Amino acid sequence: MKVVIFSSEVFPFAKTGGLADVTGALPLGLEEAGLEVKVFMPLYKNIKPEVVNEEFGVSKIGKNIEVIFIRNDNYYLRDYLYNTPSGDYPDNLERFSFFCRKSLEVLKKVEFQPQILHCNDWQTALIPLYLEVLKNNEPFFRNSKTLLTIHNLAYQGIFPLDKFKLLNLPQDYQEVLEIYSQLNFLKAGIVKANWINTVSPTYSQEIQTREYGCGLEDVLRENSFKLSGILNAIDYNVWEPSKDNYIYFKYGPESLEKKIENKLSFQKDFSLKVDKEVFLLGVVCRLAEQKGIDILSEALPELLSNYQVVILGTGEERYHQKLSSLAENFPQNFSLHLKFDESLAHKIYASVDAFLIPSRFEPCGLSQMISFRYATIPIVRAIGGLKDTVIDYSQDKEKGCGFVFYEYGASSLIEATDKAFKLFSQDRKSWENIQKRISRLDFSWSKTARDYLNLYNSIVAPD
Ligand code: ADP
Repeated sequence: MKVVIFSSEVFPFAKTGGLADVTGALPLGLEEAGLEVKVFMPLYKNIKPEVVNEEFGVSKIGKNIEVIFIRNDNYYLRDYLYNTPSGDYPDNLERFSFFCRKSLEVLKKVEFQPQILHCNDWQTALIPLYLEVLKNNEPFFRNSKTLLTIHNLAYQGIFPLDKFKLLNLPQDYQEVLEIYSQLNFLKAGIVKANWINTVSPTYSQEIQTREYGCGLEDVLRENSFKLSGILNAIDYNVWEPSKDNYIYFKYGPESLEKKIENKLSFQKDFSLKVDKEVFLLGVVCRLAEQKGIDILSEALPELLSNYQVVILGTGEERYHQKLSSLAENFPQNFSLHLKFDESLAHKIYASVDAFLIPSRFEPCGLSQMISFRYATIPIVRAIGGLKDTVIDYSQDKEKGCGFVFYEYGASSLIEATDKAFKLFSQDRKSWENIQKRISRLDFSWSKTARDYLNLYNSIVAPD
């Protein structure tokens, strides 16, 4: 099977979030499974393709996967991908509709006839529309079908209606794009793609509700006959405590005493009281409303009166201020780092006893899977991908792999954390059994790639 993956960011070439991780790792997993894959992304500043011409550049990843970088120096040679600190680029409609159109043109030029065009998020959501128009005129794409993966419904690609003429689409497509008197790329992709999926099964249900549908819940419900969810995965070449050079002491499920050594070194390095009996909690995330920073901040004074907390994150200014003032008021047990720091993130996953993920919504979430591998017990809100991956120990002692709370509130977060501490302090044997169990769970890309392969097969199967 031939597949093309279209994405506005692909690791390691350009990354602002989880989208790049997925579209960087999935092609490799698909190639392993025997598929012929190409990847399309824009040629941004700082990308140096192995070969390049006027229209596009090419580099190779994996064994034989071509990454094709669509070139338009006017659109893509900029300091950021989508926005500067003062806001979105005003020509994002032009930039990403061009990417969609041009990618199809180049596909034809390089004579690659895919059965599946796999689009990701709003930036590539117009591909099903341009494809439909092309299909009417020429046989090249006759057997091509489209899949649109939604990584985060909060971003939709919304533009004023009067920009429709810049899209080079027949006039009758305006109503496909239109909702709430604006153009909406994601809405159009949802309507026109042959299939849609989200990055966890639960999120595919949640987005059909008013609470989590970001205004597209009705459109999603109407299209629910072609909507499913596939859980993301993590890369165990990057996240593996037995091989991790960032952490103090390497360890695995059979050497958990080394995890305690990591904790003691961390406490010492970051001026926390060095004591293995003190419960050490970690947070690594974007400081955004999505991540539940509101209830975390509200819970912190109480958490800090009993436990040690380390937070690594960067994002919205209001959260930087809030957390900084808490750090001033509670200097004792709080280690706060307002930045992006890969090395420190690894140290935190390895050193803390438990990891807090109080998200308001969560399309998939990777940090609970990373925590598992590092034998760090996650304390999470039951939402989106967190619900699909973390079984509550309080309810299932055999399979439980974390502590789960339901209501979005500081007291629920504190209650779940207290429960975890109770087990940690009163029944270390059971605590260690959970640690061993979670560090052996498998959330690898090979399994997720197989899930995508099955989905592709069902999309191309004759109706
Ligand atoms: P999202 O994609 O919504 O930000 P995910 O949980 O899917 O959330 O992925 C976040 C990834 O980014 C995780 O690997 C996490 O460890 C990492 N990360 C988030 N913030 C930071 C930070 N400040 N420093 C280092 N790594 C971070």
